[in-house]
Amino acid sequence: MPDFDYDLFTIGAGSGGVRASRFAANFGARVAVAEDKYLGGTCVNVGCIPKKLLSYAAHYHEDFADAAGFGWHLETPKFDWATLIANKDREISRLNGIYERLLTGAGVTIMNGRATIVDPHTVQVGGKNVTARHILVAVGGWPVVPDIPGAEHAITSNEAFHMPTLPRRVAVGGGGYIAVEFASIFKGLGAQTSLLYRGERLIREFDADLGTTLAAEMSKKGVAIRFKTSIAAIEKAANGELMLTLSDGSKLTCDLVLNATGRAPNTRGLGLEQAGVALNEKGAIVVDKNYQTAVPSIHAIGDAINRLQLTPVALAEGMVVADRLFNTATRSMSYDFVPTAIFSHPNVGTVGLSEAQARQQHEVKIFRSTFKALKHTLSGNEERTMMKLVVDAKTDCVLGAHMVGPDAGEIIQGFAVALKCGATKAQFDATIGIHPTMAEEFVTMREPVAN
Ligand SMILES: Cc1cc2nc3c(=O)[nH]c(=O)nc-3n(C[C@H](O)[C@H](O)[C@H](O)COP(=O)(O)OP(=O)(O)OC[C@H]3O[C@@H](n4cnc5c(N)ncnc54)[C@H](O)[C@@H]3O)c2cc1C
Repeated sequence: MPDFDYDLFTIGAGSGGVRASRFAANFGARVAVAEDKYLGGTCVNVGCIPKKLLSYAAHYHEDFADAAGFGWHLETPKFDWATLIANKDREISRLNGIYERLLTGAGVTIMNGRATIVDPHTVQVGGKNVTARHILVAVGGWPVVPDIPGAEHAITSNEAFHMPTLPRRVAVGGGGYIAVEFASIFKGLGAQTSLLYRGERLIREFDADLGTTLAAEMSKKGVAIRFKTSIAAIEKAANGELMLTLSDGSKLTCDLVLNATGRAPNTRGLGLEQAGVALNEKGAIVVDKNYQTAVPSIHAIGDAINRLQLTPVALAEGMVVADRLFNTATRSMSYDFVPTAIFSHPNVGTVGLSEAQARQQHEVKIFRSTFKALKHTLSGNEERTMMKLVVDAKTDCVLGAHMVGPDAGEIIQGFAVALKCGATKAQFDATIGIHPTMAEEFVTMREPVAN
């Protein structure tokens, strides 16, 4: 048996890489991980965590307005971007420290720098070759920047977390979850916000009612949404203003453009192809059900394999790999009923099949309710909540649960357990609601609105 420096070398200390490295080390493996930017990866540094902190900040705008109907009279609240960003940065560095301690505490060696693959058992970091029995590629994804004139004047979500000031007028390009989240953040923090999307429905990979309800609610909150419109060119004026030419020939002036038009696996220039690892047309690493690539000693997980770009999915995949290589090899990963939330204003929560997906395979019954939450009877807020269940007409199993409304992610997380267990609509009906909540509506929808 050849002698290697490590049993496992992980490239990328993001969600998946840290979890796999830590678990492998706990199973007794000698592990090293290379990271070229920030411990914790996208989620901790420029993704889920800072995004949700900004989303909380932005929601106060509406909360202050809602408070008036309950008798609270505040002087005009003032917002300070610099305070928010400084506090957010402090929290992120605390998390970076936690990640470092988690790794070193488990006995994992951290190597700072960009790693590339030299051969199936060799990685290069900082000009030094390191050998390993197994290599795990967990390099995540990176924003795709549209190829338009003046693209260099726009930012991506990566830079949005570090802007020195909050711009007055913002144009967000895109209609996916990152686009709607940032449009909601900017609007909530007080910027005049346009959302420009070449498609006809927001968050189009999800149930159609989610996208249409979200567009209506975001519009009510003041986001100017333009469908079938994309940014064709950006010019920067001498005074710093950005002049946009849109795909329909119209013009828009703003102070910031954020492109949120997609992300791609961060797999370029890693030496993967030379080592014999196959990539698909999107640059995603091709793996089998055990996350093994075409090269038996190289595995890959997370956004780099582009299955579901979510932190909990990358974590679960990382644990499968660690278990398979260094423990009992009994852990597996199911992609069915993976719940997810979008932290737009209002929030979106979803699990299971959309109505359209369900109709392709099943006869369905659709239950839907749209209502004004109790809180808004006094707040005067016009926001409406939408809940929807997609039910298999033959088996009565609930195939999908979808919601647009406050705390949708918190609510859907609980229902995801029920769907994963194969809950039927009759069992939903037999569950006593918690009154008065919004969530009780999920167990009190009696009449289908469509078959
Ligand atoms: C704005 C935004 C918001 C998001 N919000 C959510 C959310 O609310 N919920 C959710 O579940 N998911 C969210 N995500 C997605 C989530 O962040 C990713 O799915 C998750 O981080 C993927 O984990 P990963 O381990 O595959 O990659 P990452 O976390 O991206 O980690 C990859 C790491 O590899 C490093 N790296 C890359 N190449 C090399 C190299 N050659 N050498 C050394 N190091 C390298 C990178 O610097 C990075 O630290 C969000 C993403 C974005 C961009």
